[in-house]
Amino acid sequence: MFEESFNMNDLHSENFDLCRICLSEPEADRRLKFLHVLKNNESYFQLNLQIEELLGIKIESNDIKPKIVCENCYKSLFSWFEMKKKAQESQIVINYIATKKVLNKT
Ligand SMILES: [Zn+2]
Repeated sequence: MFEESFNMNDLHSENFDLCRICLSEPEADRRLKFLHVLKNNESYFQLNLQIEELLGIKIESNDIKPKIVCENCYKSLFSWFEMKKKAQESQIVINYIATKKVLNKT
């Protein structure tokens, strides 16, 4: 069951600095880089906005929950973001071609 596979007591409750997505701890792996969710918002890729959009998790500045993500999750999120963007752009082309095909038939 849940308790067997994932023991809540294993997590250091006094240290709440965890990757918000995979629960990696900076303390456990010092080679792993972490990014602050609310401080990495470039106009092209807004980290907090994409976490909300792609994962449905809203990161608020005024609670005690972790506001960092590890670089692995960051990379996954970024490639997912790029894939979504690519699909949306392709969709415009596909819709255009589909419209033309429909028009040609009539
Ligand atoms: Zn992570």
